[in-house]
Amino acid sequence: MVFKYGNTLTFFISPYLNFEEAECDKRITNKIKKTDRKKCKRYQCEETTEMISNGGRCNMQWPSQVKVKEVGPRDGLQNEPLFLPTEDKIAWINQLSKTGLTSIELTSFVHPKWIPSLSDAKEVARGITKEKDVVYTALVPNQKGLERALEVNIDEIAVFTSVSETHSRKNTNQSISQSLSSVNVVVKEAIKEKKRVRGYMSTVFGCPYEGVINVEQVVRIAEALFEMGIGELSLGDTIGVANPKQVQEVLDVLLKRYPAEKLAMHFHDTRGIALANVLSSLGMGITTFDSSLGGLGGCPYAKGASGNLATDDLVYMLNGMKIATGIDYNKLIHAASFIQEKIGRDLQSHSMQVFNSQNE
Ligand SMILES: [Zn+2]
Repeated sequence: MVFKYGNTLTFFISPYLNFEEAECDKRITNKIKKTDRKKCKRYQCEETTEMISNGGRCNMQWPSQVKVKEVGPRDGLQNEPLFLPTEDKIAWINQLSKTGLTSIELTSFVHPKWIPSLSDAKEVARGITKEKDVVYTALVPNQKGLERALEVNIDEIAVFTSVSETHSRKNTNQSISQSLSSVNVVVKEAIKEKKRVRGYMSTVFGCPYEGVINVEQVVRIAEALFEMGIGELSLGDTIGVANPKQVQEVLDVLLKRYPAEKLAMHFHDTRGIALANVLSSLGMGITTFDSSLGGLGGCPYAKGASGNLATDDLVYMLNGMKIATGIDYNKLIHAASFIQEKIGRDLQSHSMQVFNSQNE
């Protein structure tokens, strides 16, 4: 792809593009010897970086390793209409623990009235067989929730706040500043209890009520959460509206302040662009992604739409790109078919559609 940018030509390089050799010749500077021009097709990015006038950014530089955080038992199940029996949740999480995943968000300690499908949070946390290499996280909205989470010795506490004032009020009945002060209490207390803490910011790339969110607002809230002492910040595209360019723009601003290791991306696949957004984030050096097996969970703002980015699709892509995840794809599919049977409907991930069509 070639874009006209000001007076200079700007190249957006992708490993899947295949420039014609003649095209390469035109683009390669004198610095690259004639004999190296053959490389052009395969190593466009390396070879042409010097002439790229897009700020030297190069999408070819993928990280060699990525951490996938499975959020299906929480983010997926909380958006499922039915109550999955506790023993099925436990059995599923135990399967997930053996796939090579190193991080699983297993439930949410919100008031059972808010999310009845996760009202068995304590039983689930107590019932699972913990694997030593897996960090088990739970979402905690307030002090009461934290008390319950601490009783069952959760490894990592996740707190959340919205970056949209209207979304915050509609979702939690609190303004952003009220939400931040209750989050602050939880974070401080959790740190005192020597727990890891991760923060979620929702509606980072767009809000169902306010539309596009100003990046300064995102920075302001990120700053507040990091100041409280969170170790990692997950940027949520709650309604699945982000696009790869917007992802770059937001990350460009945040990465000037925080190292990539402190940031995670949480994409929803509502419009089918989640993996493109992952690719965009990888190009920016992000190495942590949240996803939900099989794409479990819908979108509360769009009936019938896909929910979270699917772990199986994400891992398929990363494994194919030789980016290490440590996750066994076949074991993932096995765990996905287990939960699919329990919820009684086909999961929407691409991987599971392939699996299901082969197993009809
Ligand atoms: Zn989500």
